[in-house]
Amino acid sequence: MISCPEIWRDFFEKYYVSEISKEISKNGHAVNINVNVLETLVPYVEMKLYEDLISYPEITIKHACEGLKRSHNILGVSPSEVSVRFVNFPRTNRRLVKEVGAKYVGKFVSVVGIVRRVSPLQSFIKDIEFYCPECGMRSRAVVVDNKLKPEHERCYNDKIKLIPDTNKITRIPFRKIIIQDLPENLESNELPSMLEVWLFEDLASNVRAGDKIVVNGILKSMMWRIEKKEAEEHLYIEANSVEFLEKDFRTINITREDEEKIKALARDPDIYEKLSQSVAPSVYGFNDIKLAIALQLFGGCVDEDGRRGDIHVLIVGDPGVSKSKMLREVAKIAPRAVLSTGYSTTGAGLTVSAVKDEDGRWALEAGVLVLADKGIALIDEIEKMGKEDREHMLEALEQQTITVSKAGMHAVLNSRCAVLAAGNPKYGKFEKFAPLAEQIALESNLLSRFDLIFVVIDEPNEDRDREITRFLLGNMKKEAPIPPDLFRKYIVYVRENITKVEISEEAV
Ligand SMILES: [Zn+2]
Repeated sequence: MISCPEIWRDFFEKYYVSEISKEISKNGHAVNINVNVLETLVPYVEMKLYEDLISYPEITIKHACEGLKRSHNILGVSPSEVSVRFVNFPRTNRRLVKEVGAKYVGKFVSVVGIVRRVSPLQSFIKDIEFYCPECGMRSRAVVVDNKLKPEHERCYNDKIKLIPDTNKITRIPFRKIIIQDLPENLESNELPSMLEVWLFEDLASNVRAGDKIVVNGILKSMMWRIEKKEAEEHLYIEANSVEFLEKDFRTINITREDEEKIKALARDPDIYEKLSQSVAPSVYGFNDIKLAIALQLFGGCVDEDGRRGDIHVLIVGDPGVSKSKMLREVAKIAPRAVLSTGYSTTGAGLTVSAVKDEDGRWALEAGVLVLADKGIALIDEIEKMGKEDREHMLEALEQQTITVSKAGMHAVLNSRCAVLAAGNPKYGKFEKFAPLAEQIALESNLLSRFDLIFVVIDEPNEDRDREITRFLLGNMKKEAPIPPDLFRKYIVYVRENITKVEISEEAV
């Protein structure tokens, strides 16, 4: 490796003369280094610095801080306060949460994800001094196995153990969060991987559940022993910097050729029919519901009054009318979908919940509507949702935020998603002669938040049953006119490029 404090001092003086004072006035004590500078400013030395940062991050970051302190252009900041943060890693070097494994332990990684859980702010003992209670000999601390220990365990003079000096403790703000992969980077039936992230100082104060972030830092590992089981390796990132994603990080790539196909579809006079037939093609019928879902996937735009542009759709139907199947099929074409049920014992709730983390502290955990921010939340058996979720649901659907004040934590989370929900009738099956509204197991104010409600009644009908049988046997099964891959790109294209919707005279 070539990294050493002098090379970093040189680097700061060469490239960061004007940036340093700007950065420090903006971030307090931290200087953000755009890694693209390191990588592309060509000179041999800087390229090597980048490699050193990736392969030997612990020591390289130390060198960088030391070099910054030595450089002559930091003004008005005491050198002991400065820290160096690396940001803006090339996209090709960004990892998904599911890609982060033990082979990266000790390396610098850049990981993109969504914040699922936020633990409360704690203080972390960064440094402490030890002393001899007999003669007062002092020793500084060194880190051994993630713990602070005295550099000299025993006193030189009287051989007794040194003890920590509680008056000489340096504490810094600290918070643990858990990130998981963004919904658009998961297969429709894939469970998200999760990764713990440790945030220090000001990084610890700015993160909310549901934030889409890039975490840059060192991957570390710790052995965890739970009761009598084998010790397990537990991976976490010690964050060096956190970047908030304005735009979604997507892996879907729309080529010129795709764009041509999309524009041709938009001009097609049969486009509505094609859209409808391309949603859940393995489910028989329900063309009006499928068209509604297709339009919901494209979404509307926020109007001048700031009213939401997302459309909420509810399907209430007798058991056995393929509601669940429909939701699963929608998950396959929606570019950003989170599929869940109203009540699940393992997964996150629908809105937000307070959970105990492994240290026994209360943490806020983002629910489905937060994780699906800017996408679609697919909720089966919505009538089974718990009391907590019901309380937040009205606000979540209409204002598209969730205000939470729980276990001493306050937050306003975003839930800017469309909701496609399915539910069962209150008494198991629809009663033909009773009013419909009374048979839906949701409060009327909640029902009113849905823009479209479809009621599907399973009426005995021989002709239709025969049709369905033929359909299922494959005689009538049709290929989707718009293949799922193109459909997904079509949705992404429209959502990114259309910012205003005009309603034609005719439609009004
Ligand atoms: Zn002593």
